[in-house]
Amino acid sequence: MGLLLAADRVLTPEELLEPGWVEVDGTTIKAIGSGRPRREPDWSTTTLVPGLVDTHVHGGGGASFSTTSADEAALAALVHQRAGTTSIVASLVSAPVSVLADQLACLADLCDDGLLAGLHLEGPWLSPTHRGAHDIRHLARGNAQAVERLAEAARGHLRMATVAPEIPGGFEVIKALVDADVLVAVGHTAADTPTTQEAIAAGARIATHLYNGMPPLHHRFPGPVGVLLGEPSVTVELIADGVHVAPATLALTARAATGRLSLVSDAMSACGLPDGRYVLGSTPVTVTDGVARVTSSGALAGSTRTLAHGIRTLYAAGLPLVDAVTAATATPARALGLWRRGRLVVGAAADLVALDDDLTVTRVMVAGAWR
Ligand SMILES: [Zn+2]
Repeated sequence: MGLLLAADRVLTPEELLEPGWVEVDGTTIKAIGSGRPRREPDWSTTTLVPGLVDTHVHGGGGASFSTTSADEAALAALVHQRAGTTSIVASLVSAPVSVLADQLACLADLCDDGLLAGLHLEGPWLSPTHRGAHDIRHLARGNAQAVERLAEAARGHLRMATVAPEIPGGFEVIKALVDADVLVAVGHTAADTPTTQEAIAAGARIATHLYNGMPPLHHRFPGPVGVLLGEPSVTVELIADGVHVAPATLALTARAATGRLSLVSDAMSACGLPDGRYVLGSTPVTVTDGVARVTSSGALAGSTRTLAHGIRTLYAAGLPLVDAVTAATATPARALGLWRRGRLVVGAAADLVALDDDLTVTRVMVAGAWR
């Protein structure tokens, strides 16, 4: 007999069961249903949602994924896991290719262990003019050999790479990524409208944190924002910390990207820690009032919030709770091909999050075990 969990509401998230129950057997969801369960539940709560899926996160708890220390990367992962993010795609900022290869090889071990769900290269193929917190010395022109070397180092765990298509060799990188079965994300880019359209035609399917790291939307020059937001095949990442994108823009974007909005934390090492001085990759960052900025330029440098905070921000911006939860679970899981994650269905991984009335995470289950 499996572990029976009951809740006043269960968001699968496609369905809202009020009340509902979930039965867990080992590491897997065995059964799910609406109404009261037939036997006394082992545990009950207010709201149950799938474990959250964060496909763009750099670190937390003082630790960074841009490391060759498995202990440091595991510490960052556990900070997010305890906060409800049960599927973590670790993001690496731009660095020399040899350094990135070593970091990917280290993180691939954590993917093998199941602590990470995949890896994301956010660079080095980015625009110098829209690089945000990426170190300009580490940006590189596109070349297929580098893609092959990095994909090999990641041993099948490299799921996504961010590319500015307009840089020299940008389309060579996109083709090599598609050939290596790695999702292409467009971001940190100054691409014009036709170049963005060409990137989608070449296989790009994700917008890396829409609005941030690209020129703003102009009605006569839609550029990356207008093209990526308007294209039904593209999943749109948004940083919902309430700082990177204004609440009204979050709500507008959610309406324009129904079913393909992917909430990301873009959290860096200061996530979960007080204000102070930190680094993102090799870039010094200062955190003031919870906002991380590059110390020298003042550019935003990732967030200090977890994905659960993003759900509260979206909800406060006026989204229905089901839509806010979907953007942090089912949509990113589907976009990245994490088929057993992000949904409460029979056969899925038993990753669950309990929320109280304030949408604060009260308990987290990872693969059938409470954390
Ligand atoms: Zn970024």
